[in-house]
Amino acid sequence: MKTLSCRVLVLGGGPGGYVAAIRAGQLGLDTVIVEGKKLGGTCLNVGCIPSKALIHAADEFAAAQRFATGNPLGISVSNPAIDLAKTVAWKDGIVKRLNTGVAGLLDKAKVKAVEGWGIMRDGKTCVVETADGPLTIEAENVVLAAGSEPVELPFLPFGGIVISSTEALSLDSVPERLVVVGGGYIGLELGFAYRKMGSTVSVVEALGRILPQYDTDLTRPVRKSLDSHGIAVMLGTKALGLTDNGDGLRIETAGGEAPAIAADKILVTVGRRPKTDGWGLKGLDLAMNGQSIRIDDQCRTSMTGIWAIGDVTGEPMLAHRATAQGEMVAEIIAGEKRSFDNVCIPAVAFTDPEIVVAGLSPEEAAAAGHEIVTGQFPFLANGRAMTMERENGFVRIVARADNHLVLGIQAVGGGVSELSASFSLALEMGARLEDLAGTIHAHPTLSEAVLEASLKALGHAIHI
Ligand code: FAD
Ligand code: NAD
Repeated sequence: MKTLSCRVLVLGGGPGGYVAAIRAGQLGLDTVIVEGKKLGGTCLNVGCIPSKALIHAADEFAAAQRFATGNPLGISVSNPAIDLAKTVAWKDGIVKRLNTGVAGLLDKAKVKAVEGWGIMRDGKTCVVETADGPLTIEAENVVLAAGSEPVELPFLPFGGIVISSTEALSLDSVPERLVVVGGGYIGLELGFAYRKMGSTVSVVEALGRILPQYDTDLTRPVRKSLDSHGIAVMLGTKALGLTDNGDGLRIETAGGEAPAIAADKILVTVGRRPKTDGWGLKGLDLAMNGQSIRIDDQCRTSMTGIWAIGDVTGEPMLAHRATAQGEMVAEIIAGEKRSFDNVCIPAVAFTDPEIVVAGLSPEEAAAAGHEIVTGQFPFLANGRAMTMERENGFVRIVARADNHLVLGIQAVGGGVSELSASFSLALEMGARLEDLAGTIHAHPTLSEAVLEASLKALGHAIHI
């Protein structure tokens, strides 16, 4: 069996793993990355990027349809149509460009990329099944970046018409009737997209509200939009399984079993769980935190020389968290003093409208014992939002009442995802309300709502 020795072995080539490997390579560490499927991981191949491509195509198609049926902008088009197979091929082209890009960046950083499934034999040794036979890699440091996988409901296993997000991103035609189980991130992002592409969409959500990770002020505009798009949202409803003839979903509400919902596809999006099987975890003596690998603020596990980053370490399962952890771990291995002490990990739901959260909501700030002031500014009063027909939503700022330190910024509205970095930057820089209010925001932009929200919190907003 061939053997390879290195300073750093990264198991998993997602946004956590490949960034850790690139940074380690840049720092001159002899680094090997092992990926069993495709470089870029869930995010690039079957997650963030393909879903946002599909959402964009669906938005464009919805706009074309609106123009075809009359609109105040004076634009007319006739008979718009969407060929999903072509849309998926376009999306695959973007994914391929990014795959190639990651491979090139690893190469540039002098990282050895090994294709094959790796299994940890002990804390220093990994055996990879490559096309040329088994390869043993011995490493001083191991970075576990195995990612996550979709949760499967035992009574509604994937297969046939029951699909996960992975299949939903590569369908060759738009299903007539799509039932989504789980009204969280993926269910609503893809639910909106398929509705806009022409599916009849029903969302079955077990809890009494959609997007339970966000407060109801933020989700209200999304709920309204689901209704106005004609997406049926069934709250407090549990999936029971397929109907006997396999063409629908049996459901249960508080009142007992309700009539089944006919479906051509059933998309199950009830969360993701850390990938902890199939790569030798059981043979390692790692402390766990429930289903995820326990880490400290430097992403060290309970075993010396073994680090863990990204989704395999649990919530929040977001690509930018994995990336930040990966970069940090490489620097710590190289001898730099780092710890994961970020003020916030922003989160964005790419629904219609979008939601951004950074830092503490008013409830979270109050629960943490802060006396707070808040300021909220509606896009209804923002000129740029009017010109873009994006008047639904608002920006909200939460600050300490005593010294005006900004504790959180949230927004809901069309295109607010692009404001997220300014929210995080304000929090990381320890901005006060006066800093935001004293910053000239270019006109006309959606970002002026941030300025106005901070003025509102100070008691003197100009435009409301
Ligand atoms: P992953 O990206 O899961 O990568 C892990 C990699 O490790 C995989 O490629 C896997 O093949 C490989 N691997 C595992 N075990 C082995 C082994 N033994 N040998 C070899 N290779 C192995 N996050 C956002 O921040 N924004 C979004 O908009 C967003 N949208 C999403 C949309 C969807 C539909 C989904 C499913 C997820 C989305 N996410 C989003 C979440 C995001 O994809 C994950 O948080 C992110 O990919 C986690 O990165 P990671 O490096 O920890 O793991
Ligand atoms: P999620 O946790 O966002 O939502 C799951 C939803 O399913 C919840 O509302 C939950 O109450 C509901 N649910 C759970 N069990 C159910 C059942 N038996 N019947 C009906 N409803 C049920 O999970 P997801 O949408 O699968 O996404 C997984 C993860 O992927 C997210 O938590 C996030 O970390 C990541 N992600 C992020 C983005 C983004 O950043 N924009 C996009 C997609 C995915």
